[in-house]
Amino acid sequence: MTSIDRSGAAAETRLWHPFSDMSVVRRSEFVLTRGEGVWVYDDQERRYLDGTASLWYANVGHGRAEIADAIAAQLGQLEAYSAFGDFTTRPAQELAARIAGLAPVDDARVFFTTGGGEALDSAAKIVRRYWTAKGEPERMHLIGRTGGYHGTNGYGTAIGGIEANRAGWGPLMSATSSVQWDSLAALEEEILRVGPERVAAVFAEPVIGAGGVLLPPPGYLEGVQAICQEHGILFVADEVICAFGRVGDWFASSRFGLRPDLITFAKGVTSGYLPLGGVVASGRVAEPFWEQSGNMLRHGATYSAHATCCAAGSANLDLLAENGLVSRALETEGPLLAALEPLAAHPLVKEVRGGVGLLAAVEFSAEALAAGAPVAVFEAARERGLLVRALGQGVAVSPPLTISQEELDFLGATAAEALDAVA
Ligand code: PLP
Repeated sequence: MTSIDRSGAAAETRLWHPFSDMSVVRRSEFVLTRGEGVWVYDDQERRYLDGTASLWYANVGHGRAEIADAIAAQLGQLEAYSAFGDFTTRPAQELAARIAGLAPVDDARVFFTTGGGEALDSAAKIVRRYWTAKGEPERMHLIGRTGGYHGTNGYGTAIGGIEANRAGWGPLMSATSSVQWDSLAALEEEILRVGPERVAAVFAEPVIGAGGVLLPPPGYLEGVQAICQEHGILFVADEVICAFGRVGDWFASSRFGLRPDLITFAKGVTSGYLPLGGVVASGRVAEPFWEQSGNMLRHGATYSAHATCCAAGSANLDLLAENGLVSRALETEGPLLAALEPLAAHPLVKEVRGGVGLLAAVEFSAEALAAGAPVAVFEAARERGLLVRALGQGVAVSPPLTISQEELDFLGATAAEALDAVA
């Protein structure tokens, strides 16, 4: 009989990690065992300040019993039931209604997915089917931006603007393109090149995350929305990172005064306690599907609107609201930037960016990048008890919204030590 080693500890792992160099990771994994607030602990009981809220998602922090209890209660009642046809559950109904009430989208409807990438692909398919249903089947073209990250599914890969993520897969989804991330002129030009009557939608992260924490120039997002309206094109705000408090408002679209036709979300909707994402669609976009008999959206997954994931989402929204974490993120954006600003004078550093919610980045000089500084600084910070994210241009931080001033001080001081160690 084969015995099963449940410790998982082996000379070589069998776990294939996402976005990871398995030639290295196969023999050296970093094991986390528990979390509490902004802190996580490894299997040696060393603690680390989670300066990235894991992958930009642990908005309420780690170890919140309120969410664990809500999950356990729902599991004890009914773990899940597929929402195909007329089936639903109370948690799915409740969370959809709450998100529809919070999102700055006219007459909102909520389509749930299991994560952000699936939300992007759902949004892309919804807009293409919308135009087919409206009698404009030639409106299929989807425009993204350079530096944009929209997950790794089919459409999200095609409209993404980080070149390395697009390479080597063969032909990507057709009728897609990217424009310079901060140029309204480039967007107009591309729309005219394609033909405005052929463009289905423009996709934009209000603050670009994985592409380097790029803040929109003043007036840019409003300009994108106006250009879309002028040509009858749908505007999709990808708020997988930005929504649910990250930028100091429930949605970045609210913060920037936008009313998109669709919003994609994931991450902060559950703070990662269970996987969940989705699309908020306006009444206009929903109309052909909700008003015309026989026009169903032939799209969706087994776990769409999963009851226990939705219960986790509602418990998470309760915490965000009851603990005032959205306004707290707004109040803390200045202190986070202040904690990092001293790094701007460091020889490795080109620029410190932030000031819109709890999203910030330290961009390195060209020489430091050529010498591999992002990964080196990530490693030096981790050795000193701080987790930051290595990106193409530098390192990013996006701590839980619960972070205190003392913890911010630790974050800034430890980041400075890590830079010194690498310089
Ligand atoms: N869109 C944005 C803006 C993201 O940052 C991400 C993930 O980081 C995604 C989409 C994809 O989400 P997921 O990783 O849940 O598929």
